[in-house]
This record gives sequence, structure tokens and C-alpha cells, in this order.
Amino acid sequence: MHVAGAGIIGLTIAASLVQRGYEVTIIDREGPAAGASQGNASAIAWTDVAPMASPGLWKQAIKWLVDPLGPLSVRPAYAFKILPWMLRFLAASNPSRVRQSTLALAALNGAALPAWERLWRVSGTHNQVRRDGCLELFDTSASLENARIGWAEQRDFGIEVNELAVDAIREIEPALSNRLVGGAMVPGWMQVDDPLVLCLSLADWLKNEGVAFEVAEIERLEPRDTGCDLILKSGGRIQAERLAIACGAWSKTLARQLGDKIPLDTERGYNITVPEPGVKVNRMIMLPGHGFVMSPLSTGLRVGGAVEFGGLNLPPNWKRVDAMVSKAKLFFPDLQTEGGARWMGYRPSLPDSLPVISPSSRHDRIFYGFGHAHHGLTESAVTGEMIADMIEGRRPAVDPAPFAADRF
Ligand SMILES: Cc1cc2nc3c(=O)[nH]c(=O)nc-3n(C[C@H](O)[C@H](O)[C@H](O)COP(=O)(O)OP(=O)(O)OC[C@H]3O[C@@H](n4cnc5c(N)ncnc54)[C@H](O)[C@@H]3O)c2cc1C
Repeated sequence: MHVAGAGIIGLTIAASLVQRGYEVTIIDREGPAAGASQGNASAIAWTDVAPMASPGLWKQAIKWLVDPLGPLSVRPAYAFKILPWMLRFLAASNPSRVRQSTLALAALNGAALPAWERLWRVSGTHNQVRRDGCLELFDTSASLENARIGWAEQRDFGIEVNELAVDAIREIEPALSNRLVGGAMVPGWMQVDDPLVLCLSLADWLKNEGVAFEVAEIERLEPRDTGCDLILKSGGRIQAERLAIACGAWSKTLARQLGDKIPLDTERGYNITVPEPGVKVNRMIMLPGHGFVMSPLSTGLRVGGAVEFGGLNLPPNWKRVDAMVSKAKLFFPDLQTEGGARWMGYRPSLPDSLPVISPSSRHDRIFYGFGHAHHGLTESAVTGEMIADMIEGRRPAVDPAPFAADRF
């Protein structure tokens, strides 16, 4: 059994397979956690059920797009290329499609935490996880009012969301400035100490369990009745009896070679991780009105987020990080960012806000696990279990229909 991609999705697919007795080889052009999985915001955000594509987001998006360094931007050189994705995103924002996506996400994210708890336990990584909850904070009455609609929806799915007055918020996060108008605590939200450390620990555990890691770039796939040949950039060829493709934002070309035209694109995100931030932030802070989060990690304070449509090849625009830091200082005036490490990552995103967790539509020995966008860390362990079920011909615990490769 071969897995292409050693991000968090590839690692968790391998974890499920090795526990079921398969011999597994993971192939990655750089090694474990080379992509989005190394630098994300560290949240196990299983309490999120709202798709990105929604009527509310469009209103917000138009406001954000006016500011070139705002939370949402399109690089001019990529504007034409992203247009078809945007049109699909728009189509997925009508109320009945939003309801379908919400139900699918609620089912997937509802199974995400139990799947992670199993994997943390068996891999010995449970000491890298904290349940400090997440504070969602707002500095305008309009954004707070809007958030209440989302909180009501979360509560309908049994998720606890506790609205807090400003005094109560500042009591638990004393370093905050006084620009808040309100917020809420989501106590079920969890966080890992550092996503890179988690990936590397999982990779070490997988090696101990007998999983082989190979560093090689897959250039082409040649499916056969008995499996699939992987043609490597180095000129080599690997024969796989079964293959799971988990190459994150880079999966689109490989799927297309197999006959699946999947409208995968990337939402680029940015952050800075500061070892000595000069402020104490006790738990994850979300600032939805400004499109970024603050994550206290074991390796420093990470300030990041934003969505930039710019494809896989344009250079980063680090001014985005400076803009986020300026906004973060409005909330945490003593924040200092000297010595911070800047990073950009490629969220693998589909226009209906749902991942592809599916057999290939033409080859029954090839499977896909990609497109988890903002929730790849959260949804990885359950994705691994679902793909292992599909490989074994079992029905996954979560209905896989909404995540099918042929839905587009
Ligand atoms: C700023 C930011 C913050 C985020 N915060 C969160 C969060 O708090 N919680 C959460 O749940 N999610 C979060 N996410 C999303 C999450 O990081 C991603 O959804 C997830 O990491 C995707 O994992 P992946 O394994 O699919 O892809 P990746 O981690 O990108 O891995 C893909 C791998 O495939 C390899 N590869 C690609 N092409 C080839 C090839 N041809 N041959 C061989 N190897 C190849 C790459 O080297 C890479 O290692 C965030 C993302 C960003 C950018």
C-alpha cells in the first residue's frame, strides 16, 4: 500500500492502514510535514460546522477585498485563473447548498475528535494536546451580532458556545486592550502544542510501526488493472498495488492524470511565530472580523490567518504578515514580534468547502484524501480512518457521499 504525500493527511492515512496490518510506504518529495501541515494554527476545530461558502461571507468578502492587505485578497496575476473556482464558490453559497455542506461538515467534524483521541492514544502523542477552548472576539457590534447567528447554529448541533461580557473576557485574558465589544468561549475547541512537532512525532511512531518513508517527487501516474505505477521525477518507477493520494494543494494534477477533474485550488495563508512575544495569551484567540487567529504554541505565539488567492507559484507577499501584526497589536498592545519567523502555507481548498475523501472515480485501487482547506489538521485522523475503510471495502462511519470525487 502506497501513500503519496507526508502531510498530516498522508500520515494519518498511513496510521490507519498500519494499524490494520498493511505494509505501507509513504512517498513525499521533501519528507514529513513539508507543506501546510507544518505551520498551521494548531487548532482541532471540530466545533466549526459552517462552510466558508455562505451568503454572509460574500457580504464580508466584498468589504475585505477593497483592502489589498486585508484578510482576503486575490493576486492580480491570478485573478483570471481563480475565476472558475470563485463561480463555483458563489454557486455553493446558496442556502440549500450551504445547509448540505453544513450537515456534511457537522458529521465529519463530529467524528474528528474521537478519531484523533484514538490516534493520540495509540501513537503516544496525547501529551501534545490541550483543551483550553477558544475565545472568539469582536470589536464591532455588527460583527458580534452576526456571530450570534453562527453560535445559534453551532448550539443546534450540540456544540457549547458561551457568550461572555467584556469584563469576563478580560479577566481570563488580562493582556487584551479595551477595544472589545464582546465575544464567546468555545470550550470544546482543542489545540496541539505545535503542528510540526505532532507530525514529526507521528512520523517517528509510524517508522517504529514499520512504515517506510521515501523522498521522491511523483511526476506522473499510470494506472493499471492491478494498481498504479508512480513515475518519479528522478526517472524511477514505483509499482503500487493500491495508492492513496494526499498531496494537499498539489493533488489536482495527479487526480487529473487519472481522469478526475477536481476544482482544487489553494487559499494561501500567512503567519508569524514569535518565541518571546512579551504578552501572555492563555488560549487560542479568534478575531473573525479581521480574519486571523492567535495561537499560543510550545514554540512561541503564532499570529496568522488571511486568505490569498495566488496559486502555487507566485512569491509570498510578506506585507500581509505586517498587516496582521498591526491589527493584533490593537488587541494586545504589548505584543512584540522581534525574532519572529514568517511563514506562508497552501491550504488545499475546494469551492464547496468540503474535502475529497473518496475512491478515484475510474480506478478502484486509487483513493483520494485532499482538499481539507482550513480544517486539515482537525479532520485528518477521521479521513485516515475513512480511507482505510474504503480500501477494505467497509462502509465508513461517516457517510462519504458528500466527499465523493465525482461530485463536481
Ligand atoms: C495559515 C494556515 C492555518 C491553518 N490552521 C489550521 C488549524 O488551526 N486547524 C486545522 O485543522 N487546519 C488548519 N489549516 C489547514 C491545514 O494546515 C491543511 O488543511 C492541512 O495541513 C493539509 O494537509 P495535507 O496533508 O493535505 O497537505 P500538506 O500538508 O500540504 O502536505 C502535502 C504533502 O504532499 C507533498 N507533495 C506534493 N506534491 C507531491 C508530489 N508530486 N510528489 C511527492 N510529494 C508531493 C508535499 O511535499 C507535502 O509534504 C491551516 C492552514 C494554513 C495555511
